[in-house]
Amino acid sequence: MANICVCARFRPAISKEDGEALCIARSDSRSFTLEDEKDEQHMFSFDKVFYEDSEQADVYEFLARPIVRDAVEAINGTIITYGQTGAGKTYTMEGANIMETDNHKKGLLPRVVDELFEAINSCGETAAYKINLSMVEIYMEKVRDLLDLSKDNIQIKEHKGHAIVLCGVTEILISNVEEALKFLSSGIANRAVGETQMNKASSRSHCIYILTVQKEMEKEKRVSTGKLVLVDLAGSEKAEKTGAEGRVLEEAKTINKSLSALGNVINALTSGKANHIPFRDSKLTRILQDALGGSSQTALLCCCSPGLCHFSESLSTLRFGARAKHIKASSRIGWKEEMHDKKQEILSENDVKLKVLDL
Ligand code: ADP
Ligand code: MG
Repeated sequence: MANICVCARFRPAISKEDGEALCIARSDSRSFTLEDEKDEQHMFSFDKVFYEDSEQADVYEFLARPIVRDAVEAINGTIITYGQTGAGKTYTMEGANIMETDNHKKGLLPRVVDELFEAINSCGETAAYKINLSMVEIYMEKVRDLLDLSKDNIQIKEHKGHAIVLCGVTEILISNVEEALKFLSSGIANRAVGETQMNKASSRSHCIYILTVQKEMEKEKRVSTGKLVLVDLAGSEKAEKTGAEGRVLEEAKTINKSLSALGNVINALTSGKANHIPFRDSKLTRILQDALGGSSQTALLCCCSPGLCHFSESLSTLRFGARAKHIKASSRIGWKEEMHDKKQEILSENDVKLKVLDL
């Protein structure tokens, strides 16, 4: 992983929480204190903090836009929302709904799609682009194709050249924004189908959106691919604490295991000295292997509820983020500036790696 940007977002209090005490004290746009009723205080600093009044557009601009722009240049990128159920992960990712046109409520995904098509339409005739969409869900360590529910146990393989392949997964060639939204919407609806059968499965499963951007430079006869992966993670709450049992407890244990695996992989990648990255410890990290590894860019958004009653879950979410950031954080000034330099390096590195087409 070339770089990780870790941000925190507090959603506004929702109507049933009106009048509830809050647990955040703002410092500035990068730091805040999380406080409980006994005045236990925890200070956090991230690349950026989005408070309750933040706009969806601001989150997109800071955290996603640079990664989307890079995907067009064949640099893989991953955008992850992490946090307890109800903290705003799906709202951030999809928006109030995927078809939302109100700029205040429109989520990251539709903005990503807009930007991808804008980028490829503005590059003239120097290159031909293809954008493919796949959507899968991981529930109890099984990978289900959200664009074709008959494929309910997709296998993961590693190809030569280290690309991760989801065997037989539906890949839809998307030719415009409307088409992309139509398929995203049907995949999201398929997620909801499972929900009635699997007890609120959307909060008990990880949802993964994969957009591959293939760029064919006709003159130079070469093709390059950027893979953009957006992950709406399962709720990180500790069900053990709430006295859950049976299947709910099993689900929680599986989720916690895969979230720890994700944390371990991110830490190993950002430490820069790990010779073994434990990608194989979960389906989640295995699928993300080529999107997180190599010279990719990653953004992690730690979503929190602002209420005091969620203090301990918010603390654990923010600690996950802090741990991901910690290793390289000390000397960091601003991830965007650093990314600019990194990007120059990666671009030249990618140039060497580009496959020559035998036309
Ligand atoms: P999660 O996916 O983390 O379980 P959701 O995204 O479903 O949580 O959010 C829980 C509730 O809070 C939803 O009703 C959602 O509409 C609302 N919500 C979340 N974030 C925001 C926000 N930034 N602004 C307004 N409402 C929000
Ligand atoms: Mg959700």
